Amino acid sequence: MRHGLDPAELPFMRDDGADETVRVPDAMAVIRAGKAITRGPAGIASGPFWAETLVASARDGDPTVVRATFEPGVASHWHSHPLGQVLYVLTGVGRVQRDGGPIEEVRSGDCVWFAPGERHWHGAAPHSLFGYVSIQAVQGGTAAHWMEPVVG
Ligand code: MN
Repeated sequence: MRHGLDPAELPFMRDDGADETVRVPDAMAVIRAGKAITRGPAGIASGPFWAETLVASARDGDPTVVRATFEPGVASHWHSHPLGQVLYVLTGVGRVQRDGGPIEEVRSGDCVWFAPGERHWHGAAPHSLFGYVSIQAVQGGTAAHWMEPVVG
């Protein structure tokens, strides 16, 4: 398991310097558990989280798939996904909110759809880890546009 992050490892999660040579596999591929776990990039969440890149791409229209685990109380910054995002909760208790909407609690088995361009955040409840798999496609070389921290 590696610690620290080369931004090139998660180009689709950044909105700077996307490397368009990163592509989805061109044939069936089994991604073995634990082979691609990194600390989440700095500057996009309120504290520590882990990201496991299951499918990476920086090519427009391709899907990216990430398993993420947030430590208790840690939330992403506000952000949006150009082509939307499916977030399927694996473990723990999380909180999600779209801009202008209520904070909603989500648990294992719940699935959240965030619409294209919809400003939102997701994070762990104060006393629980929060683990999920998310799927988000790439547009303009990125699958996420990052904004300011969540306040309050
Ligand atoms: Mn999101």
